[in-house]
Amino acid sequence: MPLMTRKEYMESLRKVKKRVFLGGEEVESYVDHPIISPSIHSCAMTYELSHQPEHAELLTAVSNLTGERVNRFTHLHQNTNDLVDKIKMQRLLGQKTGCCFQRCVGMDGFNAVDSVTFEMDRALGTSYHGRFRDYLTMIQKNDWVVDGAMTDPKGNRRLGPAEQEDPDLFLRIVERKSDGIVVRGAKAHQTGAVNSHEILVMPTQTMREADADYSVCFAVPADAPGLLYLYGRQSCDTRRLEEGTMDVGNAVFGGQEAVIVFDNVFVPWERVFMAGEYPFTSILVERFAGYHRQSYGGCKSGVGDVLIGATQAIARIQGLEKASHIKDKLIEMVHLNETIYSCGLACSCEGKATASGTYLIDLMLANICKLNVTRFPYEISRLAQDIAGGLMVTMPGEKDLQHPEIGAYLEKYLRSAAAYSTEERCRMLRLIENLTLGMGAVGYLTESMHGAGSPQAQRVVIGRMANLEAKEKLARKLAGAEAKG
Ligand code: SF4
Ligand code: FE
Repeated sequence: MPLMTRKEYMESLRKVKKRVFLGGEEVESYVDHPIISPSIHSCAMTYELSHQPEHAELLTAVSNLTGERVNRFTHLHQNTNDLVDKIKMQRLLGQKTGCCFQRCVGMDGFNAVDSVTFEMDRALGTSYHGRFRDYLTMIQKNDWVVDGAMTDPKGNRRLGPAEQEDPDLFLRIVERKSDGIVVRGAKAHQTGAVNSHEILVMPTQTMREADADYSVCFAVPADAPGLLYLYGRQSCDTRRLEEGTMDVGNAVFGGQEAVIVFDNVFVPWERVFMAGEYPFTSILVERFAGYHRQSYGGCKSGVGDVLIGATQAIARIQGLEKASHIKDKLIEMVHLNETIYSCGLACSCEGKATASGTYLIDLMLANICKLNVTRFPYEISRLAQDIAGGLMVTMPGEKDLQHPEIGAYLEKYLRSAAAYSTEERCRMLRLIENLTLGMGAVGYLTESMHGAGSPQAQRVVIGRMANLEAKEKLARKLAGAEAKG
């Protein structure tokens, strides 16, 4: 059933019987849990927009595998237009949800695994690529969400996988059988894992010969026996358990992260896409990270649009929209936000075909994109907080506003420009709080810092690709100071 609706997606998730733990308890129905369900609504927007005539073109693509129109989140990029449309789609979704909508990690995983398995088969005579394409065809036909799971807990960062005191701190093959492999370990910070139908596991870093059992890539159903989901806390998350909608800031949508534990999980060979080929771990990590660093140029600029809009609104509500320094700050926010977007577009336009035919972004520009994302949302947030004022964090709650005795005082003393209601002002402040300090800040700020690799990881790639020698030669030539010998 290509192109599920929002409702079909939610119903399909109910059939995936995962074991999810939150707040020290096993959750009975994760789809209905008040802390989890906003994140499901965000992910569901990737389905909803695929059915809206004005967005269907952007949210879907004709599959090179099936010839059918599929959700773009399950598509292999066939040209630079696909890469550009990916960024535009992510910006749109960021604008519609104001948070992380979670489905990109699987898309980025598919595209990376596709080209790497092709190259691995060509070099080693293995048969992973055909298997992977069969798997992806199945995903496209079902229109499923797949969690791309890369980050291992890593234990002592000075030690490699095989050197750790506890060998499970990197996910590994613990048994090879005639019909498949058994794996043990964990994946941390897993965006959207609980909202996924499938988990696509990739190695977390470059592996060496001693780490062959850690050089593993495979896919499992999200409710495979032995999988456990430990749901991550977010700042202010229990506000979702209260009555009312104001104090959460973004009542309908939210992001989600979890630790996934793999407690001796069996994976049949037809779902294994790498098992010991350690020389190919580096390129797989580099490509997946590259695609996800590109992704941030789309999603974070979309969320940035929401924050800039909220800041413009609060300036107006508080009577400051004409002050020149406010206008300047808003322009600065737009400048930073559009720079992020420009980088996402640039690395897409400069994309090239890999040997499998799947298009890869320009890795240098994708890393520049993400390095900007580790900074600019923080600066945009600082400016938003500057303009919003301290009331954003000192304001009483929704129930106080509704209280029969004190409500009238709050209504009177929290009123700003006469044309706008007190409630309007409070709601806008709560949205800015959500995005810069609360649940939304997980996706907009910390994920901008560490998602798809922390800033140092981008610096390493940039340093490797910078070709400073060639630049030095240019300068020497013009200066008439060419190196001798
Ligand atoms: Fe997609 Fe952005 Fe969330 Fe990553 S952080 S899954 S790119 S929305
Ligand atoms: Fe992310």
